[in-house]
Amino acid sequence: MQIRFFKVRIPFIRPFTTSFGTEEYREAIILHMNKDGIDAFSEIVTSFLPDYGYEYNDTAINTIEKFLAKYVADAPQPHEFLDRVKGIKGHNMAKGAVEMLLWDYHSKLAGKPLDDYMGKSRGYANVGISIGMSDISEMKEQVRSAVSLGYKRIKVKIKRGRENIVSEIRDEFPDIRLSVDANGDYSYHDIPLLKELDKFELEYIEQPFRGDDLIYHSKLKKEISTPVCLDESITDPEKAEKAFEIGAVDVINIKPGRVAGLHNSIEIAKIARENNGHCWVGGMLETGIGRAFNIALASQELIDYPGDTSPNEKYFRKDIVRNPFRMKKGVIEANKGDGIGVYVDFDALFSYLVEAATISI
Ligand SMILES: [Mg+2]
Repeated sequence: MQIRFFKVRIPFIRPFTTSFGTEEYREAIILHMNKDGIDAFSEIVTSFLPDYGYEYNDTAINTIEKFLAKYVADAPQPHEFLDRVKGIKGHNMAKGAVEMLLWDYHSKLAGKPLDDYMGKSRGYANVGISIGMSDISEMKEQVRSAVSLGYKRIKVKIKRGRENIVSEIRDEFPDIRLSVDANGDYSYHDIPLLKELDKFELEYIEQPFRGDDLIYHSKLKKEISTPVCLDESITDPEKAEKAFEIGAVDVINIKPGRVAGLHNSIEIAKIARENNGHCWVGGMLETGIGRAFNIALASQELIDYPGDTSPNEKYFRKDIVRNPFRMKKGVIEANKGDGIGVYVDFDALFSYLVEAATISI
């Protein structure tokens, strides 16, 4: 059996800026496996830089080639695969891509759409949007457009020193569900600054402190009334349990790639519910392939907040799937076809291709 890698580079309609920096294009890696006549796909959510976490595209490909692919030859169930690779430390995004390849394979084998195969689905995802930093008039224009399109929650990226973004947007939109994401840009000394955000009645503040922190977030939570959401800090179910136990979190942004796939994503959603917390599904600017896994997860009844799963026509002019998701009134319906239910547009994929490789297992 073979696993194929396609590295594609898709330009963004507008550059995307977070506290990490600005990206002009999405460099994505698509995985493909054919077993017993079933074509399964997934996407590695790393980027070309180790900015969101320590993993990046080359480490992910290398980890899959050297350490993970050999465990896939007999197409184990996703949780069995995770069990087999538990001796390999970290590299969750590489593991997650392989784990999701197996979810697509098994749901296609079972003849079921992924959201139904995975668990109790409501059949659709509630959709919010994440807006990158730019000058304030441009950001407001994007919020205006998102509100008119029916997005159920607006999230804006902020960083230390740019808190004015929140007051400016709140002034014009007093009633929207608004949240902010700092991608870890603040330090413990900034707690007084973060307390200032309480008056804007945000749905939550996401990841104010470093991506490996829980302790300072628990201290912050005692000081502010705004709920605290964790993204980068929650790397596996045990970390989620610890975060609730020490009072570091109210809301979890679940990204399947960050937590080694969908099995752990569901476990984390259960932990959030058991602790009276909330959760939603984040995004890593995926193509239509990675997005299909996010929509299937976000459709689960366990996921109670709108996610960052906006259709990627917001980001890319042309996707690499023939049936990209469309949003109506803040809702995206889960695909009805078997597995991820998206069909790869190979002409588009090859037009963006920068590298391809095949490994035999
Ligand atoms: Mg985030």
